[in-house]
Amino acid sequence: METSHKHLVIVGAGHAGSELAVSARQNGWAGRITLLGEESVLPYQRPPLSKAWLAGQVDADGLLLRPRSAYDAARVELMTGARMQAIDRASRRLVLADGSALAYDKLALCTGGRPRPLSCAGLAPGQRPRNLHYLRSMADAEGIRAQLRPGARVLIIGGGYVGLEVAASARGLGAEVTLLELQPRVLARVAGPDVSAFYERVHRAAGVDLRTGTELASVEVEDDRVRAVVCRDGARLPVDLVVAGLGMLANVEAARAAGLAQEGGIAVDEFSRTRDPDVLAAGDCTLQFSSLYGRELRIESVPNALEQARAAGSWLGGKPRPNRAVPWFWSDQYALKLQMAGLSQGHDRCVLRGDPATQSFSAFYVAGERLLAVDAINRPADFMLAKRALAQACTVDAARLADESVPLKDLLQTASAVPAI
Ligand SMILES: Cc1cc2nc3c(=O)[nH]c(=O)nc-3n(C[C@H](O)[C@H](O)[C@H](O)COP(=O)(O)OP(=O)(O)OC[C@H]3O[C@@H](n4cnc5c(N)ncnc54)[C@H](O)[C@@H]3O)c2cc1C
Repeated sequence: METSHKHLVIVGAGHAGSELAVSARQNGWAGRITLLGEESVLPYQRPPLSKAWLAGQVDADGLLLRPRSAYDAARVELMTGARMQAIDRASRRLVLADGSALAYDKLALCTGGRPRPLSCAGLAPGQRPRNLHYLRSMADAEGIRAQLRPGARVLIIGGGYVGLEVAASARGLGAEVTLLELQPRVLARVAGPDVSAFYERVHRAAGVDLRTGTELASVEVEDDRVRAVVCRDGARLPVDLVVAGLGMLANVEAARAAGLAQEGGIAVDEFSRTRDPDVLAAGDCTLQFSSLYGRELRIESVPNALEQARAAGSWLGGKPRPNRAVPWFWSDQYALKLQMAGLSQGHDRCVLRGDPATQSFSAFYVAGERLLAVDAINRPADFMLAKRALAQACTVDAARLADESVPLKDLLQTASAVPAI
């Protein structure tokens, strides 16, 4: 594709957008590249917002994905503080929030997601009292940090990764933390019961008042502040701040209006192409069919955003390389590094290797003979081995997995002929 007179517009200056811009240039895209983002800052890393940044261990510069000079060197024009409102595919133009138009030859949608809002009695739709926080952006994290003082009564709603990481960071700062989780266990959507139980023990030992199977019924708001929350079981908890970690909603409204997305995301192939040959998409806003897992997945992780962005960049630059990466993710809580590879849904067995009491073990999720996923806690070597094996589809000798006298590599048999699940 001759690209020297063409204009690539990337909407969304987050992990995917930043990587896609640089990758397209590195792969040979010769034309203009505009990276448009509604936030007013340079693209930055989100994972530390609930971890090192919240704990005060990194400053704003330390969050940047790249210095400005990297965009200049790649001749990427940054348009910060600019929001795309609508996509006119027929004329290949975007309409921006200020009413201006931006023409494109190729468009990449990297719009990520936004926090799912809290909905309960006492809160009008869209109402956000000053001490009710979500966590997606640096501005959100600044809002939390400004109110997070030693002794502050912090109420976290949701025992997913973000909620648990905020709990750990807040405890580290000396806050009094209560965490409510509706499900009978934390991390219920992503990890097996052993891993959930382990994290529940760790948080309780660190002083978190962790209440599983507990539903928030209402909030009491006075002078634009949440004063207390009331649980369905009748418990009333006075609070200084509330952080709701209820998952995210993909930012796909403009793509949907343009006929490019369904509610759950923008469907892309392994080159991050949508059904419109001039439009690509990458990151949390996408749905991609996984040949490894035999179904369409929306993966909300930095590695996925980067892999999809690189696939898009390679295709745009004329050196197509498909994205077939194994999904993976990490989470830092206290002194624990959790690394996950693969997807555990559909497993019929979970085998632990190592003793959770030592804070170093791995949970292997198996369906029949097939390894589906691993959660490795303070075990980077297990994670690396399993991740590599998962990429090639892998069977495992599950009966001997728990036996640490047998090297893990001897138990993982890669078999690229293993069919998708
Ligand atoms: C607190 C927190 C902790 C996390 N921890 C981890 C972790 O430990 N490991 C991990 O792998 N992942 C983690 N994640 C998830 C990870 O951050 C996301 O998967 C990743 O940011 C996805 O990148 P993205 O580019 O798709 O979306 P984003 O990084 O969200 O970027 C999207 C950008 O698009 C902009 N945008 C949206 N709509 C428009 C529009 N219409 N016009 C202009 N701009 C627009 C947004 O403002 C945003 O800047 C964490 C997320 C959060 C919030």
